[in-house]
Amino acid sequence: MDLNLSTEERQFRDELRGWLEANVPKDWPAWREKPLEESFEYLRSWQRKLYEGGWAAVSWPKEYGGRSATLMQQAIFWQEMARLEAPPMVNALGLGLIGPTIIAFGTESQKKRFVPKILSAEEIWCQGFSEPNAGSDLAGLQMDARLDGDHYVVNGQKVWTSYGWIGDWCELVVRTDPNVPKHKGLTVLLVDMKSPGVEVRPLRQMTGESEFNEIFFRDVRIPTANVLGQVNDGWNVAVSTLMHERGSYGARLHLIFKRAINRLIELSRTLQRNGRPAVHDALVRQKLAQCYAEIEIMRLNQLRAFSRISATGIPGPEGSIQKLFWSELNQRLQQLAQEILGPYGQLEKGDSLAVDNGLWAYGYLRCRGNTIEAGTSEVQRNIIGHFVLGLPRSY
Ligand SMILES: Cc1cc2nc3c(=O)[nH]c(=O)nc-3n(C[C@H](O)[C@H](O)[C@H](O)COP(=O)(O)OP(=O)(O)OC[C@H]3O[C@@H](n4cnc5c(N)ncnc54)[C@H](O)[C@@H]3O)c2cc1C
Repeated sequence: MDLNLSTEERQFRDELRGWLEANVPKDWPAWREKPLEESFEYLRSWQRKLYEGGWAAVSWPKEYGGRSATLMQQAIFWQEMARLEAPPMVNALGLGLIGPTIIAFGTESQKKRFVPKILSAEEIWCQGFSEPNAGSDLAGLQMDARLDGDHYVVNGQKVWTSYGWIGDWCELVVRTDPNVPKHKGLTVLLVDMKSPGVEVRPLRQMTGESEFNEIFFRDVRIPTANVLGQVNDGWNVAVSTLMHERGSYGARLHLIFKRAINRLIELSRTLQRNGRPAVHDALVRQKLAQCYAEIEIMRLNQLRAFSRISATGIPGPEGSIQKLFWSELNQRLQQLAQEILGPYGQLEKGDSLAVDNGLWAYGYLRCRGNTIEAGTSEVQRNIIGHFVLGLPRSY
């Protein structure tokens, strides 16, 4: 792909840069260190501001609140957000995976009803896919949905549902036909999380936070008008969501990783190692440089994924390369941070000696989940092996 910006792309970048310079909140660094539960409303109003400026999802069609921007412009958007260290958008799953799936599979009235409120963060979305016995093997899920007039009655349990505690709506995969091969009996429903019979129980993670949850459904009635796509074609709808998740999420993360490596370089200029600043240690320099280069590789891989989407209109299995790379890269980055920071890096938020108020201790613990969420590394390698390289299936 051509990485030089066209005149139109430069104009887009300059307009965006001007808007961001005028609007990125100056007090973000103070908020960044707070837990998501506390900063949630702050981040929601930041997303609302982006939405009002027309910047919340630039590549989405104009009629649904986007700018019909090219994917190259989308990449420029994330780069500029990273350059100015702008806060992230809070409706991450709505913007990154569920909104694009509704645009691709939804009826006109579903698109009009749901998409603007995803963009404005008025309604936060969560993704109800995994169950206690169906994670990697998503098609094996059991959540039961029986048709009763113009409603489905849903019973069962989901688990690991990120944003379940704050979710207004859920993209839920259910089994509508238990008598056909497992991939063929699934349906996706758009579920109001305030429906009677929905119970959300937060799960405590090793980071101390409760980002994800168990959700129990007991005789929850969901209108058939909320079926997304076709009944019993839920596998295709769900895979489309997963491909968006794997293919585009890295663009957002580039912002975070770039900030982390820059901060680590800054810290290693002052932190002592063997009697002199760590940055003079040959091994530390090598590792920092390696990590910096890998973050750049991640950005270029993302452009390749965008390039593929521009050509075909949909994200492909190549997104798994990106997912595998960013999740393992973050673990290398956090490991390096711990090596450089020493025991102080393990101190948690609130400890007066903790480096960056415990940000690194948090990052180290949280990154373990990266190679599990959105499909484990083994699953990504299986997808790359079979669908990208054309190797025989492993099972
Ligand atoms: C931080 C985080 C956030 C999450 N958020 C959500 C969310 O919002 N919504 C949601 O629905 N889910 C979410 N999940 C769940 C996630 O999608 C699952 O944990 C994941 O798909 C793995 O499923 P599992 O935990 O059941 O593990 P299993 O599928 O039981 O896997 C166990 C082990 O076996 C390996 N394995 C399984 N099958 C194969 C195979 N065919 N070949 C090789 N190895 C294999 C796996 O790689 C893994 O190491 C989240 C998970 C995490 C960690």
